[in-house]
Amino acid sequence: MRVSQLFTKTLRETPAEADTASHQLLLRAGMIHQIATGVYAYLPLGWRSLRKLEQIVREEFDRIGSQELMMPALHPLELWEKSGRHHAMGQILFSVVDRRERKLFLGPTHEEVITELARHQVRSYRDLPQLLYQIQTKFRDEPRPRGGLLRVREFDMMDLYSFDSDWEALDVTYQKVKQAYQRIYDRCGLPTIMVEADSGAIGGKDSQEFMAITDTGEDQIIYCGACKYAANLEKARSVKPEVPREPPLPLEEVSTPGMKFIEEVSGFLRVPKSHTLKAVFYSADGEIVFVAIRGDLDVNEIKLKNALKCTELRLATEAEVAGAGLVAGSASPLGLSGIKTVADDSVTEGINFVAGANRPDYHVKNVNYPRDFKVDLMLDIASAQPGQGCPKCGQGLSITRGIEVGHIFKLGTLFSEKMGAFFLDQNGEQKPIVMGSYGVGIGRLLATVIERNHDDKGIIWPVSLAPYQVYLCGLGMDKPEVVAASDQLYADLQVRGVEVLFDDRTESAGVRFNDADLLGMPLRVVVSQRTLKTQSAELKWRSQSESQTLPLEGLAEKIAGMLK
Ligand SMILES: [Zn+2]
Repeated sequence: MRVSQLFTKTLRETPAEADTASHQLLLRAGMIHQIATGVYAYLPLGWRSLRKLEQIVREEFDRIGSQELMMPALHPLELWEKSGRHHAMGQILFSVVDRRERKLFLGPTHEEVITELARHQVRSYRDLPQLLYQIQTKFRDEPRPRGGLLRVREFDMMDLYSFDSDWEALDVTYQKVKQAYQRIYDRCGLPTIMVEADSGAIGGKDSQEFMAITDTGEDQIIYCGACKYAANLEKARSVKPEVPREPPLPLEEVSTPGMKFIEEVSGFLRVPKSHTLKAVFYSADGEIVFVAIRGDLDVNEIKLKNALKCTELRLATEAEVAGAGLVAGSASPLGLSGIKTVADDSVTEGINFVAGANRPDYHVKNVNYPRDFKVDLMLDIASAQPGQGCPKCGQGLSITRGIEVGHIFKLGTLFSEKMGAFFLDQNGEQKPIVMGSYGVGIGRLLATVIERNHDDKGIIWPVSLAPYQVYLCGLGMDKPEVVAASDQLYADLQVRGVEVLFDDRTESAGVRFNDADLLGMPLRVVVSQRTLKTQSAELKWRSQSESQTLPLEGLAEKIAGMLK
């Protein structure tokens, strides 16, 4: 392709709306264009990279014996009623009503549809295992689209589904898919780590995410350098700091004038935060929930949401708290009734906590569970924090940021039981199919590759994903000898299957080298009057600062070999 004929132009200025490196560079390089919030067009250069990524995914999934199919984007409501998941998905679901007043969803994921297909196709254990995948557009009405292609409302996803006869067989399949994922990331030049993850609205028993480590990642990852334990912060466990146990002392009310925050109370009474009991109020699907946790820990809302099995969880408003008869700032579980109470398991016997007195300006000392209060649920709902002990080996935990570039789930029989996807086993018994679900957002993966591979001048594509492998630049396109030599090299490279973006413009060298760096093709080749004096061309890898001069004779052949 000649740059002079390219549909897109590069941008000098960084667009104001772009908040991450990949977003800025994809816009500046003319690879994507925003059509609406979280809705993008892939322009020719971006589409070429996306297609290459799809091809890598196809090759690796085909290699483990998967079959590609294509499912519809329009899903009838009835299908989602069978799984019941439309409630859990909530407002993420885009819905439409057809001319006959029937409701349909734009598919955010395809477990329902694939289970429906398996229900019809799989009859006996002889039909298993099966691995099926598609590369298809998904729709999710994200509350906060951001980061260009990192979080969007319409996106291409590769989703793979597995069907096995039992859990042991699923374990084998799961390992196989994990390895395919690993190879996909390797081929994209993207190092990832696997972390334990929350299953969220997809559901299922066990789930793991592949995380690319980058400072701009929106996910926080807790990990242990010693034993390689790693988990999304949403799900991470930790050994909570020990607090010395004491014999329980009698309750004692103390005056704490004007104090509402745990820091104030702990400072005033000279007790460490770990000896205070923090009260937090939530609204869970509209019901007020009282949450008690040790003062040195924070509530992990994902863990709490899972514990409460609710769809919507948010902090209660002041009005809601007051309406429930609670005194914010001095609330405690003491003598509380008629309100659902959840406590973190850090709240155990013999700690003599300072807690609210349920009236303004007073707190109570020596509060102990279960002597002084009861709870409806007691479990781990605390956020793991760096410095706390690793749940596997006890060493100190660290925290980093990452971008989720793949999410895999052991669904088990969750969908097959609800939707009636059964098979006959060796003994002629009817059993639900054991399923797995595996997804990669293709656009997000592409953006993440850029997050990891760029400098202040632009993108640095790995050869595997670059829109073109070579950026050929003829310097002095008003000189016939330069035109002739660069045209010849352009033709020779194409004959050898090398993908070339040929900058045939007459702009200054500076402008064109800036574009070459911004677009980030792996190899830049320059033909100029100067190089032609020695019948040569100048080659420079985008990832390196040094250039080399090679003779034009046999150069196309040589370049083809270098890019292999
Ligand atoms: Zn560890």
